Amino acid sequence: MKKYISLAVKCPHCGESLMDLNHLIHGYPSVKVNIETKRARGVIWLCSIYDCFDHENNIELREDEEVQFYCPHCNQSLMLDTRCNLCKAQMVGFNIKVGGKVDICSRKGCKNHYVVFENLADEINKFYQEYGTGE
Ligand SMILES: [Zn+2]
Ligand SMILES: [Zn+2]
Repeated sequence: MKKYISLAVKCPHCGESLMDLNHLIHGYPSVKVNIETKRARGVIWLCSIYDCFDHENNIELREDEEVQFYCPHCNQSLMLDTRCNLCKAQMVGFNIKVGGKVDICSRKGCKNHYVVFENLADEINKFYQEYGTGE
C-alpha cells in the first residue's frame, strides 16, 4: 500500500489552521481557502496529500486560469512574489504546522508545488511521527 503524506498547513499571517476537518478529500482533511477570479469569489478545498492535485471549489475555474488565494480567517492575501518556474504564474504560500513551508502554483492545471523544511531532518521526523498517529 502506498503511504500518503498529508500536509497540515496554517496561514503564514495569522497562524490559524487552514485545515477543514469536515471536508475530507481522499479521507484526509482538506485545505480550505478563499479564492477570487476575475468573475467571482468563492472557496476552494485542496487535497492535503502531497503530490495530489485534486480539489473542489464552489465557483467556476477555467483551465489555465490564475486564481488569487486569501486566508479565510484574516483575509490577507496568500500570494507570494515568487513566480512558478513552469508557467510564470504567482505562487501561493502556506506554512506547514510542524514547520517549514509549502508553495503551490496559483494557475489551475499547473502541477508545480514544493515543500521547504526549515530543518530537514527534524521536520521529516516530526512529519512521520504525526503521520504515524493517524493525524
Ligand atoms: Zn490568516
Ligand atoms: Zn505554474
